[in-house]
Amino acid sequence: MNKDIILFDKKENCCGCWACSNICPQKAIKMYEDAEGFLFPSINLDLCVSCRLCEQVCPMKKRKALSEQKQNQPHVKIINFSMDDNYGAVIAGACLENAVKSIVSDHNIVETITYDASYTKPSFKKKLYAEKTAWVDLFKVFLRKIHLISAEQKESDPNPFKKVVSTSPLRNHRYNRFRCNFLNMTKPENDITLSECRDNIKALICGSDIVWHPNLIKRNQAKAFYLNFGNENARRISYAASLDCFNDETLYEHKSEYKKRLKSFDYISVREQCNVDFISSVSKKDVSLCCDPVFLFDKNFFNSMISSSEEPITNDKYIYVYILSHNEKIAEYATRIAKEKNLKILFYSESQNDFGEYGINCSADGPAEFLQRIKNAEYVITTSFHCVAFSLLFEKKFIAFRRSGMGPKIDNILSIVGLTERLIEDNSVFDIDELIDFSKVRSALLQERKRSMEFLKKSLEKI
Ligand code: SF4
Ligand code: SF4
Repeated sequence: MNKDIILFDKKENCCGCWACSNICPQKAIKMYEDAEGFLFPSINLDLCVSCRLCEQVCPMKKRKALSEQKQNQPHVKIINFSMDDNYGAVIAGACLENAVKSIVSDHNIVETITYDASYTKPSFKKKLYAEKTAWVDLFKVFLRKIHLISAEQKESDPNPFKKVVSTSPLRNHRYNRFRCNFLNMTKPENDITLSECRDNIKALICGSDIVWHPNLIKRNQAKAFYLNFGNENARRISYAASLDCFNDETLYEHKSEYKKRLKSFDYISVREQCNVDFISSVSKKDVSLCCDPVFLFDKNFFNSMISSSEEPITNDKYIYVYILSHNEKIAEYATRIAKEKNLKILFYSESQNDFGEYGINCSADGPAEFLQRIKNAEYVITTSFHCVAFSLLFEKKFIAFRRSGMGPKIDNILSIVGLTERLIEDNSVFDIDELIDFSKVRSALLQERKRSMEFLKKSLEKI
C-alpha cells in the first residue's frame, strides 16, 4: 500500500486548520501541539488507507498549487497590521481584502502578506538578548498569573508588535482556521524576504490599523508598512493607515523619517482625523480620511464569519468584557451591572477571572468567536478599538474605557458617530443604559463607507 502522504514539508506550510484531521475516514490524523502552542497533524500510517482525502482538502496545498499556476499574473498585495493574536487586525484584514477584490478585475490576484513586522536580522548580541528577554517575559507572565505583579506595570512605551504569550493551542487553531477561511494569505514574509520579492505587482496597499505608529519608527521596525519593496512601478497606496498617536512631540520627533518613508506613495489615506494634517505636511501630498476596513461592510457581511464560530451560542444573557489587562475599575463596573441585571460576564482578559462567580473565560476564542460574542451580548465593555467598532455595527449598548498609552483611535470613531461620552476615563461614572440613537450611527457609518470606497476605487483605477 502506498503510504507517501505528505501533508506539509515545512511547518510554515500548515496553518493548523484541522481540515485534514476532520475529513480522514480512518481517524488516522491526530493534531499535536509544538513548543510554541501550535497544532500540527500527524498521520498514523497503520490506520491510513491512502485515500488522499486529507491532501485534497488541505487549503494550504490548494493555495500553493494556485499561486504556482498564477505566479506571472498581476498581483495586488496588501500588507496589514500584525495578524498574530489580534482579532481586530485579522477581521479588518479580511474586510480590506474583500473590498479590494470587489474593485480590481478578476485577472489580478489579491493577496494579504503574512508579515512578521518585528523581525530584524539578528546579530549574535541580539540573539543572546532576545533569549534573555523571552525568558524574562515568560517569568513576568507567570508572576502576573499568580498576582505578584499587576498587569498595569507591564510597559510604559508599548511596542505594538510585542508578541502576546499565548498558552492556548485552541486559540491558535481558531486564528489559523479563520485566516485559512477568510483571507488569501502569502507564505510568511519579513523585511528581508520582501526585499527579494519579484512578483508582477500592480499595486501595493499598506493596510489599516496602527501600521505607522511612531514607536515602530523609533525601533526601526516594520519598514515594509511604508511599501519599501516590490517593483518600482507598482502603485503604492495607504488605506486607513493609523498612527494611533495624538499630535504631540513624539510624532514631530520623527518628522524627517516620516517624510523619507512616505516619498514613494501615490495615494495616501489615514484613519484618524487628527493625523491628516501631520501626514499631509510631511508627505506634501493630498491625504484622505478613510474608515477602518470593518466599516466598509454592514453587519450582514460578518454572518458567514460568525457562522464559522466553534463556540455554541450560550443561553445565558451576558455582558461581553474585552480588555487586554487587569483593570479594577472595569471589574467593579461590570460586576455591579451583572449583579443588578442578573447577567453572566463573558470575558477576554490576559489576567485571570476578575469577575468572581459571574465570569466565564473566553480567552481561547478566535476571531469568529469574538464576533459571535459581541453580536449576542446584552452589553459590551472594552478598551479595544475593534470591540467598539463591532458594538457600533451590531448596535450594542457599550462602554469603552481609556487605558494607559491609548491613542486617539476610539475618540476618533466615537466623534464620527456622535458618541464621545461613551469613552470614559477611569474615574468617571456612566449609565450604560443611556439610549443610543443607532439610526444616526448607521447613517454616519454609511457616509464613511461611501467616502472610503470612493478613495479605494480611485486609487485602484485601471489596475
Ligand atoms: S490518506 Fe485518507 S486515510 Fe490516510 S490519513 Fe489521509 S484521509 Fe486519512
Ligand atoms: S493546513 Fe490544515 S489541512 Fe493542511 S495539513 Fe495543515 S492542518 Fe491539515
